[in-house]
Amino acid sequence: MNFGPPPPVDHLTDVPDLENQRQAQLSAVPATPTVLDAHFDCAAAPMATKISDTEFSLDYQHKDDDGGPDGVYWFMFKLKGVAGKAVRIDLKGIPLDKWHTLNPVYQYADGAVPAISEPLLPDDYNLRSAKTVDGHNGTRMPDTSGEPGGWHFIQDVWATGGSTLSFVHTFDKNDATVAMRTPFTLEDEEALMAQATQDKAPPDMAAQVIDIGKTPEGRTLHVVKLSSGGEQGEKGHPCILMYAREHADEHDSSWLVAGALRWLLADNEKAQDLRSKFTFMFIPILDVDLAAKSGHAHVITSFLPNAVTPESIAYAGFFEKWMQKGNPADIVFNFHNMESAEGENLVPPIFPPKDSPWSAPTIALHREIRAEEQSEGFSVHQDSWTTQFSPERLGGWLAGVYGALHLPYEANSQNPQRHVLATEISRAGSVMLQAGCAFLTSDASRASRKLSADGRGAYEERWGKYGTQLRQGDVIAMESQIRELEQSRALLDAVLQK
Ligand SMILES: [Zn+2]
Repeated sequence: MNFGPPPPVDHLTDVPDLENQRQAQLSAVPATPTVLDAHFDCAAAPMATKISDTEFSLDYQHKDDDGGPDGVYWFMFKLKGVAGKAVRIDLKGIPLDKWHTLNPVYQYADGAVPAISEPLLPDDYNLRSAKTVDGHNGTRMPDTSGEPGGWHFIQDVWATGGSTLSFVHTFDKNDATVAMRTPFTLEDEEALMAQATQDKAPPDMAAQVIDIGKTPEGRTLHVVKLSSGGEQGEKGHPCILMYAREHADEHDSSWLVAGALRWLLADNEKAQDLRSKFTFMFIPILDVDLAAKSGHAHVITSFLPNAVTPESIAYAGFFEKWMQKGNPADIVFNFHNMESAEGENLVPPIFPPKDSPWSAPTIALHREIRAEEQSEGFSVHQDSWTTQFSPERLGGWLAGVYGALHLPYEANSQNPQRHVLATEISRAGSVMLQAGCAFLTSDASRASRKLSADGRGAYEERWGKYGTQLRQGDVIAMESQIRELEQSRALLDAVLQK
């Protein structure tokens, strides 16, 4: 990828001028003391210590009785009383190999424009033609100086001691939120659901926000469905599911889902056309309770029998009803995010094993996506990091039970060569959705469509033959039993034929 001239000389371990200025003013007595607050949904500031009025330290290595923070993946907090102050934050005990190219983001409470309500980028927008600025740590990011209400990257970032990343910024207003990347909070999810329920499409095509159950902490689990043509349409049209946040603190991932959904909801001829030919489903935050607490992994591995959660049973139950009707599930996009230095704006971390029938169609789909995303200016890794099935996850469960093509992507709004805004990573989501549709209508998808159709056929046959023999249990346990019954029957048949 060509992103223009390389970023400037890497000043990663040099102290920025702004930090020297801050130190020179340390004796000044503040009119309003600075406060760091991390007591709100999706916030995280492990072991925050106030060093001086303009310096805080967050210690990720500190372990308390609970074992310390749940991984090192996320931070978000509010700074109050910071107007006119240069404030320094030290992130201690972090994986500097991944974070040295990270430029945290901030937004002022006063005049804030929620990223979820910002207009979608125009059709002719291209990442390469947007104006950029460079970070002290050798990175490149969009110049947002003309958009005071939105999120901005902090440029003055440097490293000390091999595991501490520091940043300093002069704030213009009193209250600012600072985060590892643009957050997609539970409030954003609510706002997105509200946008979907105000869909202007005709009633038979309108988006449906479906409440599929409650979390243990009482939050509602949502699936957004856009289908057309009634029951026949849902049976006949190819179906694409996009979900995010099985790793609950990976906020970029939700922006991909939001971008694809908002693009479909927009008054756009191409979107209307695709909505008349496909079924789309979206889950912006899979693990809602853990997202609120800024934890990393819980629901992600709960799609195996004996590992279920109320959430996995609700999601599996929703899709089980979908499958019982004989409706298709062709592609499942499953979104995550990297931290920063690990890779491009998009990386497919996992392809199916090379000897499986899903391998070739998955590679073909990724090729299509990569070409489309690159033409929009996004950097995309060519190959996967590894190959495996993931039966413990929602996408892997749908692949195993129903033959869906499950393709996870790692997004990276903190890619060193070009950090991207929430509106930009949202665009990557809509581009991916369109590439998925193009793939499903191309010859290249023949093998994949056959897998999906065979999967549906095998599913119906299994339930027809063994459904009545099922013991009681949740839907994940029943799916597991029914496949065990099928396998033992196949073994018995093989023995009897000898
Ligand atoms: Zn992840």
